[in-house]
Amino acid sequence: MDYKELANLIFPEAKDISFYEEKYPQRDLKEGAIVTRFAPSPTGFVHIGGLYQSLIARKLADQTEGVFFLRVEDTDQKREVENGVTDIVNSLKEFAVEPDEGMISETESKGNYGPYKQSKRKEIYQAYAKYLIEQGKAYPCFCTPEELEQIRAKQENAKIRTGYYGVWAKCRNHTVEEMAQKIKQGEKYIIRFKSPGREDRKIKHHDVIKGNVDFPENDQDVVIIKADGLPTYHFAHCVDDHLMRTTHVIRGDEWLSSIPLHLQLFHELGWKAPKYAHIAPIMKNDNGNKRKLSKRKDPEAAVSYYEEEGIPEEAVKEYLLNIANSNFENWRRANKDKSMKEFELQLNKMSVSGALFDMVKLLDVGKTVISRMSAEEVYEKALQWAKKHDEELVKILDDKEYAIKVLGIERGNKKPRKDISKWSEVKENIEYMYDEVFFEKIKEYPYQVINDKEQVNKILSLYLEKYYEDSDDKQTWFDKIKELAGEMGYAKEVKEFKANPDKYRAHVGDVSTVLRVALTGRTHTPDMYEIMQVLGKERITKRFQKAMH
Ligand code: GLU
Repeated sequence: MDYKELANLIFPEAKDISFYEEKYPQRDLKEGAIVTRFAPSPTGFVHIGGLYQSLIARKLADQTEGVFFLRVEDTDQKREVENGVTDIVNSLKEFAVEPDEGMISETESKGNYGPYKQSKRKEIYQAYAKYLIEQGKAYPCFCTPEELEQIRAKQENAKIRTGYYGVWAKCRNHTVEEMAQKIKQGEKYIIRFKSPGREDRKIKHHDVIKGNVDFPENDQDVVIIKADGLPTYHFAHCVDDHLMRTTHVIRGDEWLSSIPLHLQLFHELGWKAPKYAHIAPIMKNDNGNKRKLSKRKDPEAAVSYYEEEGIPEEAVKEYLLNIANSNFENWRRANKDKSMKEFELQLNKMSVSGALFDMVKLLDVGKTVISRMSAEEVYEKALQWAKKHDEELVKILDDKEYAIKVLGIERGNKKPRKDISKWSEVKENIEYMYDEVFFEKIKEYPYQVINDKEQVNKILSLYLEKYYEDSDDKQTWFDKIKELAGEMGYAKEVKEFKANPDKYRAHVGDVSTVLRVALTGRTHTPDMYEIMQVLGKERITKRFQKAMH
């Protein structure tokens, strides 16, 4: 009996690996093209870190005319949930970071390097496991869970490294005949990699993000094929990224410590390893403690949170780019009108330790992003969000023409308004422009300096009767408010008031405030001239009359 016969006994059906090597040829791409992937497990939860990785992968593929694909890693079938793949596919679609290849629904995929779901690649992994067994580089292990537990307990007692290695790797020393016999007797087994490594030797590795790192060699005989016939992550990673012709493995840095094993597997399989870029996780400041964004504790860890809150997709992406490359902020400042597609992302400029996620900053980016949109765009996006999350806002937006005027206040000019950071703020932001809501909600008027009923009433009535004209331009409109102030004995200019504070009770600004509060119930609003233009004489009159009562 030799290794070849043993391999045949274990995987009689497996094809020769040349079949797969030919089926998945080198990709015909220009030099320097990056082929990379997002490889999540379909657990029913899409983490913001996953979107972050996908955004980076998408950008690098775009920048180099490469390929970005989505591979679903579902070899841990205990963790499977229904629609897990659909959730991932939809999240990527929502944020417009769609892959060129890979899964496009729960069961379908596109691209020539599939299947893109690991559970459908069983025969491929087995072919490569067979190939390793044939060369004596992998072997069946018959240890029961109890035996493994005993080994572990002994190691812990002796205070030495735990694991299946060296003298502890009982099954690596069986003869081929012994192995074959056990298999024929029906003993259960899994397949382990026979590591050629030694713990007292070091390897050097260059990570695209982390830089140069040293590790002891791997000497663990890790499991490569589990009892259910499916591969472990380590083996699947090597086989898949080889066959899918990945050039850059961009993944979470929790995998950095597996580098010695992965490089060894690539080497023993006779392949060139891809480049690795290990991304630090997104962190959060929790009362002075820096910790990872947690699925359990932080709603913002879920990609779905942003859609629910109505934070624009573009804002989330811009903010993530900010986290990825700190020079993005300066680039954005210098290139206000450019699409973020034009920003050149550099992997080697990513932070080695975790960047802090700051919601205030993200919302600020949201404000800027929304300020760049036209009123029509804001209308469409807010409506789309409202249809899913806020019926009242749908009603408010019913009159499209009026809504676009309202949303157009201080928009499309040089310094557009920056008061909406997310779609869930639109209602609160514009509802006072709607009579139904305004009259229902107004209980008190927060007048400021001029708050005497008689004075207020006089300002409002005089303004309506004598000064307001729909057709006035902004300058005329403001000049008239000055005149009104003068007529009532208030300073027409703030300067004048400051020079002679004893002479006047208040100034033109205070008069404006009276108008603003009576009109909107608020002390802070966008430009009052524009508000009046949108409301029109009839609504203004109704509002002032109500205020005078
Ligand atoms: N399925 C692995 C994970 O979700 C993928 C890591 C990788 O990108 O290789 O952590």
